[in-house]
Amino acid sequence: MKFIAYKANSDEREHFVAMADMKGVEYILTSSELNEETVELAMGCDGISDSMLSRKYDEKVYARLQEMDIKYMTVRTAGYDTIDFGLLNKYGIRIANVPAYSPTAIAEHAVMLALSLARKSKIVEQRVMAQDFRREGAVGRELNKMTIGIVGTGHIGFETAKIFKGFGARVLGYDPFPRKETEGVYEQAKDADEIFAECDIISLHMPLVPENKHFINAESIEKMKDGVIIINTARGPHIDNKALAKGLMQEKIGAAGLDVFDFDGKGGEIYGDDYKGRIIKSEAYRDLVDLPNVMFTPHVAYNTDVAIGNMVGISTQNLMDFLEKGECENEVGRSGGGK
Ligand code: NAD
Repeated sequence: MKFIAYKANSDEREHFVAMADMKGVEYILTSSELNEETVELAMGCDGISDSMLSRKYDEKVYARLQEMDIKYMTVRTAGYDTIDFGLLNKYGIRIANVPAYSPTAIAEHAVMLALSLARKSKIVEQRVMAQDFRREGAVGRELNKMTIGIVGTGHIGFETAKIFKGFGARVLGYDPFPRKETEGVYEQAKDADEIFAECDIISLHMPLVPENKHFINAESIEKMKDGVIIINTARGPHIDNKALAKGLMQEKIGAAGLDVFDFDGKGGEIYGDDYKGRIIKSEAYRDLVDLPNVMFTPHVAYNTDVAIGNMVGISTQNLMDFLEKGECENEVGRSGGGK
């Protein structure tokens, strides 16, 4: 079996080489994205692997894949929002994703942001870099004395709750579809308002659906405890940036840790690119980036050795399953719907 992996980056390459060896498959690796020109690189391949998709494929790509008799694709991420299932079905192409590559990777990152902000590590680091070794004004807070709110207790939220629990914190979880069994890890909140009213840290772990847009807004911030720390490793639009900035300026919000950010289309989704010397057009980003109590990370919560290994391993297995069994448990969007 011969596959091609588009947008294969240097961190993934060793995993592709190991996987090709282990499974006895051949991989062509290219850093190019899949488009009308680069689709020709797939000639003679049995399947295509692509990385996180930032834009839709042109119809010509699907048409050419059909001409080349390539029927199977996989993405190496959970998200597949840019896939046009109408075109996929029209050209007889089937696609799978990697639904969970390492929930603990994102959970650990969320806790890292929370801990760093609670211990004012950005301020301490900036002082040390300037050879300012004073302690005053950088008093931290202890997680074991806090109530932590987990919004969305799915794969990642549950792992995050476990880690916070390990620090000795009281953990409160809210989910409109609550788990039947919390395994003693967290207490179920009756609604989101209970999270807002009770929690010292609020960590978001729900999906990007229209109802969740601006889940954190002026009204919800008003209901929160003074000095609350907000962590977002889920999706940028969950937070109304203007309301967040106002809350931080008024010191209602104590700190924010943002692995994802809504750039409002101004500058687009910049994460993943080198922007040195370029202007970042998002005013919301510029308002927040220099604040000592705001930590940005560029959508890297998932980026661990374990997660990358799983992304490459599971996506390879997806293509092999399609070819060997004619089906794949991670297939998405059969007849236009999504799983
Ligand atoms: P999941 O589907 O396992 O869990 C999400 C949970 O959120 C579900 O139980 C759902 O019922 C709940 N939910 C939906 N709306 C809610 C609301 N308004 N309030 C409370 N709960 C709500 O998803 P997951 O795999 O745990 O992913 C969680 C989030 O993490 C997603 O937004 C995903 O895109 C994001 N993510 C981020 C990274 C990263 O690197 N930063 C990587 C992977 C996933």
